[in-house]
Amino acid sequence: EVRVDGVAKRFGDREVLDDVSLHAGPGELVSVIGPSGCGKSTLFGVLAGLVEPDRGTVTVDGGPATGAMFGYMPQKDLLFPWRTVLDNTALGLEIAGVGRREARRRAEPLFEPFGLAGFETSRPSELSGGMRQRAALLRTVVQDRDVLLLDEPFGALDSLTRTGMQEWLEEVRSRFGWTVLLITHDIREAVFLSDRVVVLGPRPARVRAVVEIDLPRPREPASPAAAAREA
Ligand code: ATP
Ligand code: MG
Repeated sequence: EVRVDGVAKRFGDREVLDDVSLHAGPGELVSVIGPSGCGKSTLFGVLAGLVEPDRGTVTVDGGPATGAMFGYMPQKDLLFPWRTVLDNTALGLEIAGVGRREARRRAEPLFEPFGLAGFETSRPSELSGGMRQRAALLRTVVQDRDVLLLDEPFGALDSLTRTGMQEWLEEVRSRFGWTVLLITHDIREAVFLSDRVVVLGPRPARVRAVVEIDLPRPREPASPAAAAREA
């Protein structure tokens, strides 16, 4: 379980987060929505251990959180241009101490479901924006951390590809029991994927509403393709 309690943060005289609290139980997906610039990415920075909060705490299973507990997909994809796509997706594992060969071996099977097959040896500059985003997501999920922090993971995708990726996330996270915090501007996405939606107000961000989503599982297929598979 990940728990944020009373987190506050200001940059100079700009107050960004003001007393933000939320929690996600094991295997839950919690979405964070709120207007642009309200502090959502800053909140994830605090969780990932990259931004020092002025007040408040982050705990995982009752103990103090460390950045290593989180798989963090930043809003900006940060692929290294001189590395191949495969080596980019293996990088998170390598940094965690997995050898390069083994890291590649784990990342490679995800290229097909992520729509990146055939681009293993390409450079990031040869990918479309949506493909870069999927490569960044692949790099994050392959690390198999306890908690995933996904900052607008599908923002650059067209609605069809987006629906496919949402279904993929829904399926794998229940299979692997991942706990996921997701920032999105897409209310439909938040309702479809989440157990809980946390609404942050305008800056300085405070929690304005918490909506519990109680959809039966397995959930309604979201696309004709999924409905056809089930039939
Ligand atoms: P968006 O939906 O557009 O991604 P957001 O909710 O993620 O917005 P943040 O990126 O968290 O918003 O930024 C919130 C505020 O904090 C903005 O006013 C931004 O300028 C400011 N801010 C973020 N990081 C820093 C920093 N390192 N130094 C100074 N100000 C910052
Ligand atoms: Mg942001």
